[in-house]
Amino acid sequence: MAVHVEPQPLNGVLPGGTRGATVAVEPLIAGHVDFPRAAMVDQGGSFKTLRLARAITSSKAAESVPVPAFLIRHPSVGPVLVDTGLHPSIASGGSENFGGLANRFGRPSLQADEDVPSQLRAKGIEPRQVPVVVMTHLHLDHSSAISEFPASTFVLSAAEWQDAAHGSKPSLNGYRRAHFDLAFDYRTVDFDGEAVGSYATFGRTFDLFGDGSVRLAFTPGHSAGHCSVVCRLQGEDFVIGGDAMYMEGQLEGREPLPPRPFDAHMLRRSLQELRLFHAQFPGAVITPGHDPDYYSRIAPRFE
Ligand SMILES: [Zn+2]
Repeated sequence: MAVHVEPQPLNGVLPGGTRGATVAVEPLIAGHVDFPRAAMVDQGGSFKTLRLARAITSSKAAESVPVPAFLIRHPSVGPVLVDTGLHPSIASGGSENFGGLANRFGRPSLQADEDVPSQLRAKGIEPRQVPVVVMTHLHLDHSSAISEFPASTFVLSAAEWQDAAHGSKPSLNGYRRAHFDLAFDYRTVDFDGEAVGSYATFGRTFDLFGDGSVRLAFTPGHSAGHCSVVCRLQGEDFVIGGDAMYMEGQLEGREPLPPRPFDAHMLRRSLQELRLFHAQFPGAVITPGHDPDYYSRIAPRFE
């Protein structure tokens, strides 16, 4: 499927920032999907591919994992969303939104009112009032509900857009183009560009509102243009790690990395930037992508 929508390059910061602004972050769990354990943590040994294929096709070895999204409250920009969670329609069946095959193996599930638009409304925020949505990457469990934010400006890396929209074998690589091929306002950040600078232990970051409150940190490897998001709280930063690691133990080196990412070398390098950040700021929160235990005990709000 050819993608018709064209993103615009984001050359400058988005409007609305305030010098010295700090934000609050509210994690939202917007559904669950089945991940085979062997796809999250490398089981080692030879015949890795065969074993992975077997794990993916055998639902017994799968674990139901949370699909997080994050509401960032910025004092002058307003509500900013990171990733979109599962689409509201999944509460009554996922085959249309996820597609037949991904629905069969991913088994997405969502409670009524668990989707992000419902959770925002419960907090008094209409989805149309969300000016900006940052996408860590466009894998289908993150892009599922993009359609629910037609009035928002979407920001993601140019490398991620390129691979998701124009790469070969999108569905094998975790993309569902129908989720994002919409006449929406997409802005791409070129992490080779002039607006990019380093921040703390991160080599390539983009200061989204020019006030240091929300930074995209380029952490590719899991996917071609994956980003983490560094949020400045009153105390230490809150880092939305995205899928740079699935499990908390992978950040701490207690668990092996996932097998067969988009680029294993880039993934290790990105994870190293997160690990160095963790070592330098041990009190800072760095969220893993889909760790059931971690999200079962996460606080509702950080500021
Ligand atoms: Zn992913």
